[in-house]
Amino acid sequence: MKILGLGRRLAIPILLSVLLAASAFGQEQACNTRNVFPWLEQTFGTWDKVRKDSLKIPSADRPWLIFFDESCVIHVDPDSSFSAGSFKKQVIGGESFNISVIKHDGKITMPNREEIPAGLITFASTYAGGKKSFLAAALPSIWRNDVNLKAEKNLDTLVRSVVVHELTHTYHRNFHARLDILEKQLPEVKNFNDDVVQNTFGANAYFRKLYESEHALLYQAIAETRTKEKRNLAKKALEIIRERRTKFYSGPNKVYSEIEDIFLTMEGAANWAAFQSAMIEGVSVADATKLIRRSGKYWSQDEGFALFLVIDSLLPDWQKRAFGTSNASAVELLADAVK
Ligand SMILES: [Zn+2]
Repeated sequence: MKILGLGRRLAIPILLSVLLAASAFGQEQACNTRNVFPWLEQTFGTWDKVRKDSLKIPSADRPWLIFFDESCVIHVDPDSSFSAGSFKKQVIGGESFNISVIKHDGKITMPNREEIPAGLITFASTYAGGKKSFLAAALPSIWRNDVNLKAEKNLDTLVRSVVVHELTHTYHRNFHARLDILEKQLPEVKNFNDDVVQNTFGANAYFRKLYESEHALLYQAIAETRTKEKRNLAKKALEIIRERRTKFYSGPNKVYSEIEDIFLTMEGAANWAAFQSAMIEGVSVADATKLIRRSGKYWSQDEGFALFLVIDSLLPDWQKRAFGTSNASAVELLADAVK
């Protein structure tokens, strides 16, 4: 099962939420939010630490947050034009938020007018023509009911790390906008998401062999404690990435070079942030690594994570470039890290 990065969702321009307002007014009394607010407080606290201390992003650009359980939706700081339910101010972790709690009927309308089932799904996307971000996240009670997660010891930390992963994507609006353009160059691709490279080239034995070599070298670099050797391993990985791209991404496939770069960067940085959040909550490096990698079978997730672990250990202040006015890509950062 894939938990992190549940695919990219299309940003659809909005005509704000008249529909929501009509169906939901006055139903918040039926929602029990007693256990939710302490969970939100810890989640917001962890995210603040990751944002400021790990990602070095000083100011909080608070997105519209939408949390839901089996019966209710909690909107936190929704857009000013949103009017469903009755609003109240709620202090969470010392900060005041504008909150609306409403019942749902199994489906939830997003700020971009997309409708999602109220199931195990967590993602970030944009609305208002790509200018604003929102996060939609299933609360832990939904996760607890999933059969694949019955044995998960660190479930609360896992859910929080997924929220941190997705909140990191709210700083990737440049990439979302660029992907909207690149997607149009591949009309034959049905599911344009972070698995597009794996789905398109994964069956090619040579491509797979190169991917596996660079992936193995990156994880060897992570395990290596001597800086010079670490750098050499990372350098070899970069050479194979470049070789693979030269070999496969030519002619009509040239566009995949940038697409791969964007997904490795988005998923890698978000997984690295999720990893930091697990450690902030007291999980060991080994357990946090396991929690984030899970099966390790999704390429952009697992190689992206490795790239940022390597970059973080070799390139000081990479965050300023990754989350500055433009988003430097993982491969650009790796190239500087191995110099
Ligand atoms: Zn993601």
